[in-house]
Amino acid sequence: MFKSFFSKFKKDSIKKFSKDPVCGMRAGDEISSVYKGQTYAFCSGYCKEEFEKNPEAYIAK
Ligand SMILES: [Zn+2]
Repeated sequence: MFKSFFSKFKKDSIKKFSKDPVCGMRAGDEISSVYKGQTYAFCSGYCKEEFEKNPEAYIAK
């Protein structure tokens, strides 16, 4: 029971895995922002605000 729950959770995590471009942490999909047609996810509202202040600084590699 626990095992099946865990594998479902793990599968969902991989599917929805996104990296917070501001701090580099793993981000959920509750907090996100769309910039130039791309959706970026954040770990917190703070990171989202930082990203929206200057998106280019975070997506440029
Ligand atoms: Zn963050």
